[in-house]
Amino acid sequence: MTGRFNLHKKLLSIFLNLQAQLYKRFSQLHAVELLEGPHVLVFAPHPDDDVLGCGGAIKRHRLMGHTVKVVFLTDGALGISGLSARETTIKRKMEAQHALTFLGVPAEDVYFMDQPDGALVPNAPLIEAIQRLVTKFKPQLIYLPSFLDKHADHRATNEVLKNIELNKVLISAYEVWTPLIPNRLVDITAVVKDKIRAIEAHESQLANIDYKTAILSLNQYRGLMYSKKQIQYAEAFICMPSADYFKLMASVST
Ligand SMILES: [Zn+2]
Repeated sequence: MTGRFNLHKKLLSIFLNLQAQLYKRFSQLHAVELLEGPHVLVFAPHPDDDVLGCGGAIKRHRLMGHTVKVVFLTDGALGISGLSARETTIKRKMEAQHALTFLGVPAEDVYFMDQPDGALVPNAPLIEAIQRLVTKFKPQLIYLPSFLDKHADHRATNEVLKNIELNKVLISAYEVWTPLIPNRLVDITAVVKDKIRAIEAHESQLANIDYKTAILSLNQYRGLMYSKKQIQYAEAFICMPSADYFKLMASVST
């Protein structure tokens, strides 16, 4: 019992520490109208995290005329039972490309880094490839899964990005497996139909888990629980300058 109690105490202190830092040093929860751009970079550990975590925001960026590049870090090879790793990767890449057409992202803005699914680590060739992309593209805003996510590949995505030289970039961390303590909401009500089509394009993944209901419910919760304005569907983020984001990540790491 003592062990479990201590774990709870530790988790609570991490949670409160994060919340205090977020709200004292950065903004309270607020819905943004104008999204930063025009160069936006999205990191997804697996094909579908982009759509689930920030699919609505991606569409809104595209409608604002921003260029959105999406980088898939792993090959997603563990994602379909009964298919070989190679067949799974091919199918999931096709689903990822198809899904992004509903969000207005053309194929030339989609990158596959083909790292092993379930074993993502910040290795030198991967860091170099991402650094080249960042240096050339010069994004103003980067989306990635949050460092609080329960999936190891999602946390490893943060470790990869920690090694990249970022110049005046804003980080927006999205939620997939673990809900966030957010400080930013993006109203996606006007584009939720496109997000639904994009989720449905990940047909192989929906066979295992009803992501569509889960994520839309989360987006609905975020929208309806926002007290300052009526919103039907919203995506929630931890958003701050990259240097502050990685400091915050270090401060809550155990
Ligand atoms: Zn994932």
